[in-house]
Amino acid sequence: MNAARPSHWPMSQFPVIDDCLHIGGISLIQLAARVGQTPFYAYDRRLLDERVALLRDWLPSVIELHYAVKANPMPAVVRHMASLVDGLDVASLGELTVALDAGVDPAEISFAGPGKRPPELTAAIAAGVTINLESAGELETVARLGHEQGRQPRVAVRVNPDFELKTSGMKMGGGPKPFGVDAEQVPALLRRIGELDLDFQGFHIFGGSQNLRPEALIDAHDRTFELALRLAMDAPAPVRTLNIGGGFGIPYFPGDAPLDLEPIAANLERWLPQVKEQLTAVQVVIELGRYLVGEAGIYVAEVVDRKVSRGHAFLVTNGGLHHHLAASGNFGQVVRKNYPVVVGNRVVGTEREVASVVGPLCTPLDLLADRMELAKAEVGDLIVVFQSGAYGLTASPSRFLSHPACAEVLV
Ligand SMILES: *Cc1c(COP(=O)(O)O)cnc(C)c1O
Repeated sequence: MNAARPSHWPMSQFPVIDDCLHIGGISLIQLAARVGQTPFYAYDRRLLDERVALLRDWLPSVIELHYAVKANPMPAVVRHMASLVDGLDVASLGELTVALDAGVDPAEISFAGPGKRPPELTAAIAAGVTINLESAGELETVARLGHEQGRQPRVAVRVNPDFELKTSGMKMGGGPKPFGVDAEQVPALLRRIGELDLDFQGFHIFGGSQNLRPEALIDAHDRTFELALRLAMDAPAPVRTLNIGGGFGIPYFPGDAPLDLEPIAANLERWLPQVKEQLTAVQVVIELGRYLVGEAGIYVAEVVDRKVSRGHAFLVTNGGLHHHLAASGNFGQVVRKNYPVVVGNRVVGTEREVASVVGPLCTPLDLLADRMELAKAEVGDLIVVFQSGAYGLTASPSRFLSHPACAEVLV
């Protein structure tokens, strides 16, 4: 192996005792027995607590923190997150149901996403959550459905900004987009909201995802505040909510380092007095998914076969891209790179080898680790993929090849 090659950031959030990974105070071997099957995802509540506490320490205290449920909608995780954050963001009726079941105040739930169907909008209006409007057509539908119910829908405008979050893994704003209303069309939309019987809340401006560069996030925040202050001049009512999105990234790949929150927090502190002065009723919200839950989760699969093909070692596991599409490199990555992976029950091991970890699917895409240096593993060993708490199971094609379902536990 070339020593100059970038390595993965050390995954020190899970302790290693007697060469075995521990999750939530339980050894991986014991946890696998407790779950009763492999493969499974495990999420650590203590790490969720610590992550929210870290953000609360850094971010200005007047900023509200919301959890974007789509990152990990497991009901137990959502309930736990609901006890830590100030609100939830949902993107479907299914997620809305999980959020309401968790006991979250509907006033602290917002519902974003293109293509919301009438039954979803009807449910959102009946529940009293804030609907982030994604288009002029959706605005008319919401107003009509509200009228039919005799309720005044709470709405905010999701803005497709006139800028992009630079070097973001997945770009969600700037240029023509299915998300939000183009910034230049927002004044007309605001006039229309004023004509209809709607409870206007404010703006939602979300520029992108998985960003590890503070300068890029600072630049996006600067432009978001500038845009929001400009748009607010046409608002039909005082702006009560300004959701500035999220986009905070976590280190996945060799060479990635954790996001430095300090300059981001300092820039937010700098903006708040001006924002408060111009929008006296405003509550600023940051909504995060991946950053809150991503590092608290692991995916665990069991080695069912090992083979050597033309000198190359393969560990064949019972898990793969049908449970963890992102780790296989097929969920938004341009060039495939390895997630951090270890043999969880022999982290250092007695012998090391370079091996590839593959799944049981009949496709070369079913690759969890490509030629990584690992402890030499045997059949029955447990392969662990770190950084798997977000966009894991529910972002994967779990029915592909009809293998058994994956388990999930919150420890
Ligand atoms: C997906 C999404 C998020 C969460 O993004 P992360 O990168 O997971 O933090 C936040 N807000 C909206 C509107 C989203 O669609």
